[in-house]
Amino acid sequence: MHLARFPRLHLAHLPTPLEPMKRLSKELGCEIWIKRDDCTGMSTGGNKTRKLEFLMAEAEAQGADMVMTQGATQTNHGRQTAAFAAKLGFDCHILLEDRTGYQDGNYNTNGNVLLDHLHGATTEKFPGGHNMVEEMEKAAEKKRAEGRNVYVIPGGGSNPTGALGYVNAAFELLSQANDRGLRIDRLVHATGSSGTQAGLVTGMCAMNSLVPVLGIGTRAPQPKQEQMVYDLACKTAEKLGCAGVVKREDVMANTDYVGEGYGLPTESGIEAIRMFAELEGILLDPCYSAKGAAGLIDLARKGEFKDQRVVFLHTGGAAALSGYDFAFDNANRWVNL
Ligand SMILES: *Cc1c(COP(=O)(O)O)cnc(C)c1O
Repeated sequence: MHLARFPRLHLAHLPTPLEPMKRLSKELGCEIWIKRDDCTGMSTGGNKTRKLEFLMAEAEAQGADMVMTQGATQTNHGRQTAAFAAKLGFDCHILLEDRTGYQDGNYNTNGNVLLDHLHGATTEKFPGGHNMVEEMEKAAEKKRAEGRNVYVIPGGGSNPTGALGYVNAAFELLSQANDRGLRIDRLVHATGSSGTQAGLVTGMCAMNSLVPVLGIGTRAPQPKQEQMVYDLACKTAEKLGCAGVVKREDVMANTDYVGEGYGLPTESGIEAIRMFAELEGILLDPCYSAKGAAGLIDLARKGEFKDQRVVFLHTGGAAALSGYDFAFDNANRWVNL
């Protein structure tokens, strides 16, 4: 398995740090480390940057002058795509689906939306439940008819090309752990469009690392989430020339922490945001990393990680926080001493 056979733009800040979380570990009674993929560089960072290194290299190789992608209003993927497009001199158009129904001003114009626009991207809004894949194809065809060379990136950058970024992350994490003599018993992270987990599982299996990867769901129910990850992992392994290396049982998702739905903050997620912020000085986001961390915290409290060393992969997302300010009651932080 040789990643350098695939075109890649080296724009991410790698390797990302692997750090102990001492106060959180003490609080939860198990050893928890964090892999800081919230620090990948491009436009405040996040997990899409690793995928975009491969996707945007492919766009460049195809002579594209415009990229299109889609996601929810506060898509982190859209913001990171917009930043890559700016860096490479491409136009960028992002189709945004209203998956929450929030009328809140900050949700609709602040956070990632503000950053999309600052990077020069254009955005277009669609109601929730719309067929966004079809809508994006229509939009791309419109631009192609005008003579543009459009490269279409699926939601979340989750296809075999994007997943290569997380095969690379698996290599990177394992080599950091090996160099430091750090045995990893479990890798936990938030899973959504599935490219992150598919890439990690493919990389971990191809290296025969025996590190179990647990995805904490943010949208789909468990059978659907696991199937999505497994299907993409199989295609990714095939692309890499190691078809069959991922077994169905290597794909594990826990979807108990989704709450009422995608993009809707949960009580356990808000608690996770406060714990990471107050104990470790690390920012999570309500849509993804907080739900992943809520799973980590709850499973740790239930003794699931007893005597284990767990690595939490921080997939980023804090740029969305100012779009979700209504989810936090911080009135008691104003005091007169
Ligand atoms: C997109 C995203 C995820 C989920 O990653 P997938 O590859 O889509 O499964 C997790 N966390 C954050 C912050 C994200 O933006």
